[in-house]
Amino acid sequence: MRTVVEHAAIATVSGPEHRSGHVVLEDDRIAAVGDGTYPGTADERVDATGCLVTPGLVNTHHHLYQWATRGLAADHTLFEWLVALYPVWAKLDAEITHAAGTAGMARLALSGCTTVADHHYVFPSGGDQVAALVAARERIGLRLHLVRGSMDRGESDGGLPPDSLVETAEEALLGTEAAIDRYHDASPGAHLQIAAGPCSPFTVTERLMADSAELARRKGIRLHTHLAETQDEEKQCLAETGLTPAEYADKLGWLASDVWLAHTVHLAPDAIRRFGATATGSAHCPTSNGRLGSGIAPVRDLLDAGAPVGLGVDGAASSESGGLADELHQALLQARQRGGPTGLTTREALWLGTMGGARCLGRERETGSVEVGKLADLAVWDLNGLNYAGIEDPVAALVLAAPPPLRRLFVGGKTVVDGGRLKSADETVIAGELAKASARLRED
Ligand SMILES: [Zn+2]
Repeated sequence: MRTVVEHAAIATVSGPEHRSGHVVLEDDRIAAVGDGTYPGTADERVDATGCLVTPGLVNTHHHLYQWATRGLAADHTLFEWLVALYPVWAKLDAEITHAAGTAGMARLALSGCTTVADHHYVFPSGGDQVAALVAARERIGLRLHLVRGSMDRGESDGGLPPDSLVETAEEALLGTEAAIDRYHDASPGAHLQIAAGPCSPFTVTERLMADSAELARRKGIRLHTHLAETQDEEKQCLAETGLTPAEYADKLGWLASDVWLAHTVHLAPDAIRRFGATATGSAHCPTSNGRLGSGIAPVRDLLDAGAPVGLGVDGAASSESGGLADELHQALLQARQRGGPTGLTTREALWLGTMGGARCLGRERETGSVEVGKLADLAVWDLNGLNYAGIEDPVAALVLAAPPPLRRLFVGGKTVVDGGRLKSADETVIAGELAKASARLRED
């Protein structure tokens, strides 16, 4: 199957941009990229006049189950918000997680995302949470990096979550190993990979942090957790260990090139240097950080240190929009608020959302740029119409103006969004299932 997208501007991210060019998709790979029209034959030709082609966006941090618990604890700090939401999440079952995961991935697809990392760390009784998310992926058709999360430090051990919502370290490790053995696909072009993800230093014991790292390295998978999100976390970590969260992570072998960490807002200069030296990734979630008033991550400094930085929407309970194109805009605004007008360029914002994210997930050789041989994961943004008329630079239109609709979204050459509508599944059905799931969570 050969599909040609032509007459479009192309931001390849890794190489020269094209003002009017073509991209050829041959099965699940990119076969050609260039100026002008494509002279060869094709099974389908997409006239993308007035559109911008970019790599599909890569979401590096999410909690898809939270799509069913949006709009709660709307004016709380992180710790207050968690304490308010744990009892709601304790009522999750596999059906609710499936509905929320499907809706969350549908929303991501409609905002240009082709690869999503989902950090799932609540395992109340009521079915197989991991299988529910895997089934949601199959309905929407995005690439999924499913982080099998865990919490083993309940209130009685000085942790934040109620004891009823945590597993033992043994249960968490066995569950993670089972998910790896059943689902992790290490082959080229994989649609489903597993990572290990103890939730955070304040919900997980030191033993589970260390043993998760040992398991991940034995199995050859990646590691993910939340780190240095708020000043409250830093205070608690210093009081308990005498170390900052970054120093604590370093001590446990968690600053390394197979690790990416959500938020990393509060980092001292030596920690930023250490992130660069070890190639530890950061999942920057500007909307969630703003929603919870957590602070502004030092993205400019991390990039200058050589550390991989990607973007994430975070769970929809703290970023109710859940759209990844929005985060390009928010990342740019926050970086400039922190570091002045040179804090981040429009092209760097796009890089964060594509190659930066691919590096965090270890997929930079397969996705994150429009290059021959890479996966045919592409977003075709429709810049025709009122919102973009008169903006000459299409990347500026994408990053600075309202998030555009998609003419197409391809994942491995397959059309997931067409003409601004989800093609792989019925949006109305998904919305109905989600409304029912949210209503069930509100019941006593
Ligand atoms: Zn998170």
